[in-house]
This record gives sequence, structure tokens and C-alpha cells, in this order.
Amino acid sequence: MFSESVTQLKHAYASGRTRPLAWRRAQLDALRRLLAKHTQDFIAAETADLGKPAAETVLMELNLVSSEARFVRHRLRSWTARHPQPMPWALQPAAGWTIAEPKGVVLIIAPWNYPVLLALEPLADALAAGNAVCIKPSELAPHTSQLIAELVPRYLDGEAITVVEGGAEETGRLLECEFDHIFYTGGERVGKIVMTAAAKHLTPVTLELGGKSPCFVDSTVNLNVAARRIAWGKFSNAGQTCVAPDYVLATADIAQALAERIALAVTEFYGENPAMSPDYGRIVNDRHFDRLCGLMSDGRVVCGGTVDREARYIAPTVLLGTRPDAPVMQEEIFGPVLPILVVEDVESAIRFIKDRPHPLAAYVFSNRRAVRRAFECQTSSGALGYSLTLAQLLSSRLPFGGVGASGMGAYHGKAGFDTMSHIKTVVSKPQFPDTLQMIYPPLHTVRTAL
Ligand code: NAD
Repeated sequence: MFSESVTQLKHAYASGRTRPLAWRRAQLDALRRLLAKHTQDFIAAETADLGKPAAETVLMELNLVSSEARFVRHRLRSWTARHPQPMPWALQPAAGWTIAEPKGVVLIIAPWNYPVLLALEPLADALAAGNAVCIKPSELAPHTSQLIAELVPRYLDGEAITVVEGGAEETGRLLECEFDHIFYTGGERVGKIVMTAAAKHLTPVTLELGGKSPCFVDSTVNLNVAARRIAWGKFSNAGQTCVAPDYVLATADIAQALAERIALAVTEFYGENPAMSPDYGRIVNDRHFDRLCGLMSDGRVVCGGTVDREARYIAPTVLLGTRPDAPVMQEEIFGPVLPILVVEDVESAIRFIKDRPHPLAAYVFSNRRAVRRAFECQTSSGALGYSLTLAQLLSSRLPFGGVGASGMGAYHGKAGFDTMSHIKTVVSKPQFPDTLQMIYPPLHTVRTAL
């Protein structure tokens, strides 16, 4: 069944139907219509899957996919045009240019935490580039997966775009098929499985992974603003966000005050009892709930710390004075637990980050230029945010992707279009004058000195 679906996509791609710009635009428009017409259905599906607040589904998922589709649609003509390049004198006379061609059939494997955004935003980029696409949503967001599987064939070209539902087993079988590009978002363990499978066919991969994204704060910033931005980034979607600040490194002079202000921001956002807030989400499943409960033991609880297993609710929790060797610092938290570690100074914070795998994002709250520059030049991360968390992903003009352990490749806007395209070099040289004869053998007359 899987290989038949993929074969059908290959036929559709080979027929040339996905190449015309008119087809691409029609699909992108249809994608936006799908989102607009079924907003309430998506809200309901995500509430069922994740207890996700309606506004979060709309603002952080539906709107972002829609604006990405609009952004790439309006730039298609220029991105698919020939881009002439100057030729070196040795090749003259000649003309050279690059042209983007679709890769072919793209497999998109999506996770559960932003189940619409992370399935359909790469879809927009893949369609813009003129590919046929197979989407594999996450089985851990089953209502959303089912909704995507139901709506995509109703709105988009069913010959060239298909949805395959299922978990590890089904994804494993899909991965046996030969694709022209695999775009995977999720954890590192499965990322390795995906890359190993791709290697068999020499298929290029984009891996959008995660990791522990640090957040440094010193005394030069307004702590109220910093606290609110950190709390928003951390506790949106109950902390189940790949670019959420995973932990805070704070200098000793402000650590306590910062912790208290983050606690205050939590109350401002979600009220005295976040369990009652319509704006606060739930943990995706029991396994993640139990895992997170095991990560709350190290550090003084400044706020939160309460849980309700039945509802898979974990209160927004701030821990102060967590030790680097605590369990919560050994894995990506991916939940609403925020440890604050006290560091001596900026140098030790940078050392701390450099000693660990490259994160998907790093955040710096400092008004000192030298501090910002030190982070920019000395640490490596998918993205770096000054005085913000999360919001770097809102722009279609900025590439989004990881580095090292947090992934490879990027998407959003032009970066996404390029990822889903092959940039082909074309060189055209007139037959006369035949200047290439200067480098034909015999070469003993050519001077080899540089
Ligand atoms: P997940 O469990 O939903 O898995 C992701 C996908 O892999 C799913 O479609 C799933 O069916 C498939 N899968 C699971 N096991 C598999 C196997 N054995 N073989 C083949 N396919 C398999 O998602 P997750 O891994 O729990 O996601 C959480 C991680 O994803 C976190 O580390 C987070 O940081 C990262 N993430 C990264 C981004 C990003 O944009 N970089 C976004 C969201 C999440």
C-alpha cells in the first residue's frame, strides 16, 4: 500500500503536473482556503489532542502556515527565474545561470506538538518548489492527523499530494520507499533512524530536531520584561515547543528576583490557578507526563510544582538553584518546568553552553554589547535571540533550522524553497570562437606557473 502510494506520486511528478507555476499557486491558495474554512475543526482537533488553547492553534499554527503559503506564492516568479552569474574570463565567451528545479517526491514526517504547523508549513515550501508530497502526521496527535488526512485530498491535488497516517511501523515502511527528499521534524533518536534509511537511497534529508535551548539573563535588563518573555516562550503549549527556553542561566545578583518575576508573569498570564485557564495547555500523553514529573526534584520550587495525572496537567513550574548534574539538565525538558541555574558571570555561561550539544536556539537578555557579541561569536545554535524567546520563528524571511545535534538544513520562505529544490547550474558557451582549445591536450606548451 505504501509503495503504491509513493509510486502514484512518482507518476504524478513525472507527468509534469506539479511544475507549472499555475499549479503551485493553485495548491498554495487551496491550502489557505483549507485552513480558513476549517479553523474550528483544527481548533477542536488540537483541543482533543493536546488541550491546546484555541488562540494558540490559530496564532501559532494556522496563521503561520497561511502566511508562509502567501509569502512563498508571491515570490515564485522571481525564485523560479534564471539567475544569471558572471563567468570567469577563462570561460569567455559564455553565459551561466542557476535555475531551481523541483526535487521530485518529498516525504514530510511531522511531530505532535504543533501538528498542523509542522506538517503543513513544510508542505507549503515543498509545493512552492513544485514537488509531489507525501505527508506523515504524528500518531500522537490522532485527531489532527485524521483531520489532515481527510481535508488534504478534498482541497489539494490528490494525484500529487497524499497523506499517510500511522506511527513508527508505518513510518518505517514508508522510509523503505525511495524519495527525493525527506523532511523530518522530531526527536534525535528517530532523526537517526530517518537518516539511516535515507542513506540507503542517498536521499537528502532535512532534520528539524530539538535540544536544550539556553537562556542567559544578567542584571542590565529590565527583569519584568525579560520574565514575561521567558514565561511566554516557556509555558506556551505547556512547554512542548522545540525552541522554548529549556533552562535559564542567571547571574547571582538577579537570579532570585528573576525567578519571582517569572512566577508573577505566570500568574498574570494564567491566573492563580493555571489549571482553570483557557490559555494553558496539557501534556500530550501519560509517558511524557510521568517523565516530566521525574524532572521536578532538583531546585527550590518558586512556583508551580503541582500536577494532576488524570488531566495530564503540570502547573507552570519554576525551579531556582538547580544543579548542572540534576536529571532535569540531562535531557530536553519539553514541558512546563523551568530550571534556573546560577552562574558566576557571562564567561561561565558561555562555557556551560559550549560544553553541551549545539541547541536549536539560544536566548540572551543583556544590554551589554560585549556580552551579546560574545554569545554571537563564541556559541553555536540554530538561532540566537536577543531579548526575546520563540518569536524568531514568526518570520518567513529568516531561515529556521538547527545545527549539529539540533538538526541540519532549514526552511521558511526562501530557505524552504531552496531546501525543497535542486539549484541547477547551467552554462552555455558558443561553439565559436573555440577558446577551450587553449586547455586541450597536448598541454606541455601550457605554462604551469601560477
Ligand atoms: P513524535 O513522537 O511525534 O515523532 C516524530 C515523527 O516520527 C512522528 O511522525 C512519528 O510517527 C515518527 N516516528 C516515531 N518513531 C519512529 C520510528 N521508530 N521510526 C520512524 N518514525 C518514527 O515527535 P517527538 O520525537 O516526540 O518530537 C519531539 C521532539 O521533536 C523534541 O525533541 C522537539 O524539540 C523536536 N521538535 C523539533 C522541532 C523543530 O522544528 N526543530 C519542532 C517540533 C519538535
